[in-house]
Amino acid sequence: MRINRKRLEESMERLGRIGETPKGGLTRLALTDEDRRGRDLLVSWMREAGLAVTVDQMGNIFGRRAGSEALPPVMMGSHADSVPTGGKYDGQLGVLCALEAIRSLDDHGVRTRHPVAMAIFTNEEGARFQPAMIGSGVMAGKIALEDAYNARDRDGLRLGDELERIGYLGAEPCIPRPFRAYLELHIEQGPILEEEQLPIGIVEGIVAISWSRVTFNGVQDHAGPTPMRIRHDALVAAAEVVRGVREIATRMGGEFVSTVGRLDLTPNIPNAIPGRVALSVDLRDPDDARLDRALPLLDALVREAAEREGLRGELEHYWRVPRTPFDPGVVGAVEAAATSLGCGHRRMLSGAGHDAQYMAAICPTGMVFVPSRAGRSHCEEEFTAMDDVEHGANVLFLACASLAG
Ligand SMILES: [Zn+2]
Repeated sequence: MRINRKRLEESMERLGRIGETPKGGLTRLALTDEDRRGRDLLVSWMREAGLAVTVDQMGNIFGRRAGSEALPPVMMGSHADSVPTGGKYDGQLGVLCALEAIRSLDDHGVRTRHPVAMAIFTNEEGARFQPAMIGSGVMAGKIALEDAYNARDRDGLRLGDELERIGYLGAEPCIPRPFRAYLELHIEQGPILEEEQLPIGIVEGIVAISWSRVTFNGVQDHAGPTPMRIRHDALVAAAEVVRGVREIATRMGGEFVSTVGRLDLTPNIPNAIPGRVALSVDLRDPDDARLDRALPLLDALVREAAEREGLRGELEHYWRVPRTPFDPGVVGAVEAAATSLGCGHRRMLSGAGHDAQYMAAICPTGMVFVPSRAGRSHCEEEFTAMDDVEHGANVLFLACASLAG
């Protein structure tokens, strides 16, 4: 039993045209007109495949294929929104491989004991509305529905209003429900599979993540008449932290990664000494205990940088996601599928968050990774070779069929 590569490739091409950028990437932000057109196309394909389609209060779309017994479904899914000038693989590949797996069950006349379902989650990227993974987060009971509705984009538009505007404010309650399992195929977004020339990653879980906010309050002053000896420059302290955050990763070693991705500078003009700087620190490691050991290093770094520059430093650790382990049974089913197909594979952790992270809180969950060329994603160069896509779709298909009995 195999999926239909040609049909999958055609679906990828057709969906990839909605929101396509001139350089062959994708801009299909959540709840925009492009997102609506993408959703409409997917729903039409789901109906053609004979699925019972429903939409919940968060605009998450579900399609269900009946099983022979009244049991909880095996669900496959991902998201169909993208980041600005992103790629055509992140998210939509998982949705299309789920659809292809269901179409292939029909091709082969497979009857499963459990129903098989697919899901398209709303606003996974968090590019337009924060936080990310908001659709699956509400479904898992981790984000309140009202808070999600009140999320606003840069133009002040409310998520709830935009859902209604594009016609995807559904009636079905967005609450945890029983599932036999949740499976998500996704691009790796890192270089490991390509480096090791393996088509399949068996994802065992998602790394622990910690977000902190550092604020330095110095003294804003004129860049000309203020001698160097009396300056308290917030950006100079921040620069020490940027370098030091990199050194924390060097000291921790292993798979520890650290990033300063955001810098808000006041007043941010050429002829004033920066009076205030806020920066973000993102720390990740497979091991929660190692992340705990890194946080005091950050504390010391901020304290020392503030002292050296003679200004006030504040540090707030405001968001923490513990390591999310996936279900050994589901991970084992994915591995068995890869082995039976003769696909090279390895077990690995995801360094990025996915809808599977929230789904793991409510049901047995696993993921399939396929390689990302040069490890790149969230860019127009994002690419996965069709041979790898085919291997991944087959692994998803067989793992789903086996879990659904
Ligand atoms: Zn994604």
